[in-house]
Amino acid sequence: MTYDVIIVGGGQAALSVAYFLRRAQRSFLMLDAEEAGGGAWQHGWDSLRLFSPAAWSSIAGWPMPNAGTTYPGRDHVVSYLRDYEKRYAPSIGIELGGALRNMRRSSNSKSVQQAGFTLAPAHR
Ligand SMILES: Cc1cc2nc3c(=O)[nH]c(=O)nc-3n(C[C@H](O)[C@H](O)[C@H](O)COP(=O)(O)OP(=O)(O)OC[C@H]3O[C@@H](n4cnc5c(N)ncnc54)[C@H](O)[C@@H]3O)c2cc1C
Repeated sequence: MTYDVIIVGGGQAALSVAYFLRRAQRSFLMLDAEEAGGGAWQHGWDSLRLFSPAAWSSIAGWPMPNAGTTYPGRDHVVSYLRDYEKRYAPSIGIELGGALRNMRRSSNSKSVQQAGFTLAPAHR
């Protein structure tokens, strides 16, 4: 398959990028090494909290729900990110469970070797 953009990672930054690529009608593939959504937050310690309130922690398109506490905790953030994925699936699809290890430039495109995906030459 050929895509305009390949997003490496599936955390909050990747989800935001995917949201705007979808609006710009670009084709993309998101690859994430984790087995489940939530990015780095799913590996945080139990007491991990955002340093900003939910109202200021939303990613594009869908506000983070109120956490019932000023600074949302890890589980709330993970749950929000996973719900966000579900909300925008399948228009924002993530391939989970595979780290991208290398990329190779070929004569007319860059290829993601491990999975065999190709970036559209027009967007190199
Ligand atoms: C204590 C704490 C409080 C914070 N509070 C706030 C806050 O209040 N407000 C705020 O805006 N931010 C806050 N942050 C920062 C921010 O929320 C996190 O750092 C966030 O996880 C960054 O998201 P990200 O998408 O950039 O990266 P990550 O969540 O790290 O996601 C990156 C993803 O990419 C995957 N990946 C990496 N390499 C590859 C590869 N080669 N192939 C496939 N997948 C790969 C990883 O497995 C991971 O799932 C806080 C951070 C901490 C630690």
